[in-house]
Amino acid sequence: MSEDSIKFAEKFTKKINGVLIDPQIFTYKFICNCPGHCCYYGVYTDYKEYQTILSIQDKVIELMDETQSKNVNEWFEPEEKDDDFESGIAVGTEVINGKCTFLDKNGLCTLQKLAIKEGVYKWKYKPLYCILFPLTTYEGVLTIDAEHIERLPYCNVDPNTKLTMFEACEEELRHFFGEEGFQELKNYREEYLNEINIGVKEDVTK
Ligand code: SF4
Ligand code: SF4
Repeated sequence: MSEDSIKFAEKFTKKINGVLIDPQIFTYKFICNCPGHCCYYGVYTDYKEYQTILSIQDKVIELMDETQSKNVNEWFEPEEKDDDFESGIAVGTEVINGKCTFLDKNGLCTLQKLAIKEGVYKWKYKPLYCILFPLTTYEGVLTIDAEHIERLPYCNVDPNTKLTMFEACEEELRHFFGEEGFQELKNYREEYLNEINIGVKEDVTK
């Protein structure tokens, strides 16, 4: 771990399910209101997710359209070591025709389409970092991928939104932490907002 990343993780104290929490998620204003431009860049999947996708390749191919490659060898980048992934290995999805391998011509994720078609949990096959974005984990901290938000011209474009990242991503946070962990996060949010209101803590978003 580099010195910079140790310093980053050291800024945070609250841990839920082994993950540190960046309290910016409670105050950062965010609204998700574009048709999925984040999918134009592809995503890093965990090695296990990559294997799951390969195991269902025939069903995925069936749902692909003419803008997508049905050649499985073209779907992924080479594997790379990355400790922010559960297995320690990340595998990126390729960008084909200016969009993620799995994004169809209507802006829908083929992995999610498959789950819906099968009547199972909608995020069963979807990589975790797709579900989480614009939240992400960095060096063991759940935080905001502000750099990528800024790179995306249509992401979070309503400057008047009153919603915070926490509110906008409640379903994703429940998915990530589970119900018990999410309740702990809610309690931490109350504590944190209370502390910055009464001046015990500095508002890290300012
Ligand atoms: S996260 Fe941003 S880029 Fe992705 S769909 Fe929402 S607004 Fe669009
Ligand atoms: S896997 Fe699906 S949700 Fe993730 S970037 Fe590709 S199309 Fe988007």
